[in-house]
Amino acid sequence: MMKLVKLSDKVFYLPGVEELDRPFLYYIKGSNYSIAIDAGSCKSHVQEFYQELKNEGMKLPKYTIITHWHWDHTFGMPYVHGKTIASELTNNKLKEVSQWKWTLKEMKMREQTGEDMAFCNECICKVYKDVSQICVIPSYIEIDSITQLDLGGVTLSLIPRDSTHSRDALFVYFHEEKMLFVGDADCEDHYEENGTYNKKRLRSLIAFIEGIDFEIYLLGHDLPSNKEETLEYLNKKYQELISN
Ligand SMILES: [Zn+2]
Ligand SMILES: [Zn+2]
Repeated sequence: MMKLVKLSDKVFYLPGVEELDRPFLYYIKGSNYSIAIDAGSCKSHVQEFYQELKNEGMKLPKYTIITHWHWDHTFGMPYVHGKTIASELTNNKLKEVSQWKWTLKEMKMREQTGEDMAFCNECICKVYKDVSQICVIPSYIEIDSITQLDLGGVTLSLIPRDSTHSRDALFVYFHEEKMLFVGDADCEDHYEENGTYNKKRLRSLIAFIEGIDFEIYLLGHDLPSNKEETLEYLNKKYQELISN
């Protein structure tokens, strides 16, 4: 079992589990209400997160903000407390995925049509002994432009935009503590770009990140980083792309 990590007085996270492709789940505590970032991959992922919050005497989140549509961030959505918030593009995709049938045969067929990937299905099978239990739902609240939330002493901007990882990224910026939550946004795209970076999308992402005044950078599958390290890493990836 993972333990909740305290990043500041208002920000906590449950670390991810690589073998299960479990992403980091974040919690931001306001004086009026709290929110979570990402729903996780399954019911027990949500339950373990909530148990940790309860152990620390914290309220369950009023909203769970979804960073992008991929299964490891969204299949826990039916089990979260309160309401979910996602971008319009994420919701369009979730509505599509909610129609998918969950049998090993249907999953194999989706790999052949390119709708889904073998890598994802392997991970899904590790998490779900019985894939027929999978339940995919769209979010309750949908946003298509920059949206602010005031949690009480905590101001968040939710910023939907393209990323190098998926078209439907939702970035979360915590103004007072200068934190930027990005989910998997700065990774490669496995669906549209064959697991590589697209030059134009990477350049656009770098410019976006450069333009935000943040100090701490929070990822879907890795430990917190900062602006300097992030830009150094992404600029290196960009240089590699243009020198090829
Ligand atoms: Zn992803
Ligand atoms: Zn992920």
